[in-house]
Amino acid sequence: MNTLQKVEILGQSAKWDSCASSASPRKIKTDDRIGNAAGCGICHSFTEDGQCISLWKILYSNVCSFDCKYCANASGCNKNPARFEPEEFAKVFISLYVRNYVEGLFISSAVEKDPDKTTEFMIEAVNLIRKKYKFQGYIHFKVLPGTSYDLIKHASEFSDRMSINLEAPNSSRLSEISSVKDYKIDILRRQAWLKRMKIPSGQTTQLVVGSSDESDLEILKMIDWEYKNIKLKRGYYSAFTPVPKTPLQFKDRTPLKRENRLYNIDFMLRKYHISLNEFKDIMQNEMLPKIDPKVALARNHFDSGIDINESSWDELIRVPGIGPRSASRILELQKNHIEIEKKQQLKSIGVVLKRALPFIILNGKRQKMLHEFN
Ligand code: SF4
Repeated sequence: MNTLQKVEILGQSAKWDSCASSASPRKIKTDDRIGNAAGCGICHSFTEDGQCISLWKILYSNVCSFDCKYCANASGCNKNPARFEPEEFAKVFISLYVRNYVEGLFISSAVEKDPDKTTEFMIEAVNLIRKKYKFQGYIHFKVLPGTSYDLIKHASEFSDRMSINLEAPNSSRLSEISSVKDYKIDILRRQAWLKRMKIPSGQTTQLVVGSSDESDLEILKMIDWEYKNIKLKRGYYSAFTPVPKTPLQFKDRTPLKRENRLYNIDFMLRKYHISLNEFKDIMQNEMLPKIDPKVALARNHFDSGIDINESSWDELIRVPGIGPRSASRILELQKNHIEIEKKQQLKSIGVVLKRALPFIILNGKRQKMLHEFN
């Protein structure tokens, strides 16, 4: 197998690993267009200072000895095995970098014979990139479950961001989809090590949504715990998609809308610091309602609309269409005794009127009744 074939196979294999809020599911269906962001193994991510960069997202190897039931690379499922050699990997990355195709690297891998052996190869490849080819840019290094402390420490010395995938929200759910991984030891203990290592851009994780019939509440409880205890930077959610010839090939695909709702709540936990208990109040049987969670939360929270000129941060932030930035601007106007009297003023400070109007009072008047709003 030549290097180009490996790049294609291992780039495709990596597409299930979310690392970027801007990763695109967009596919180009005709041959006369360029710019297919899905198939080429390049995704986008944001650095600590908010800069958007393109990453070469790739597996070092797709040959796995583990048995995750949803995974095309699992032992006995992979019909297209491929792996790089360290020098080969480093050369491909550097040639993509010097041609300006990518600005950074996201390296992950299947677990070949054991996690340490595979990690040693990954480290060798990245060491070449850093030392021989003198690349100083962004590297996201995926920690394989069960990797030993010394190797993780070594990898942390040249990584900007690291991550280890939870895949499931607790040990009993993980045991439904993998007979090999130990949730507490192989994953949570490694996350605790990463927290102590102070990785420059921190650590992230990913969950596969719907592979083990877990509820939204189980997922959100775990991610909330991680934000508080592991100092997680970001959680990523990947809707389960059945892969042919895997044990879960006939299981229903998880709707993308469920993934989107989890991202909405995740944002509100991280950025608005709304307590998880508030979201429990809008759930039924531990599942979020099928509407925008912020609208559901606002309907539950406000008996009547709020006066935009007298509301607190906690009230403003719960209004759909008002984000942290527009809430701060409204508070700034309140502080300077400047009253908002017109919808246009709200629009100019970034409020999304269509979403916000049913929940606010302007000039003493309710803008739209809550029941009129869908
Ligand atoms: S560890 Fe599990 S999810 Fe990761 S490559 Fe192996 S089988 Fe797939």
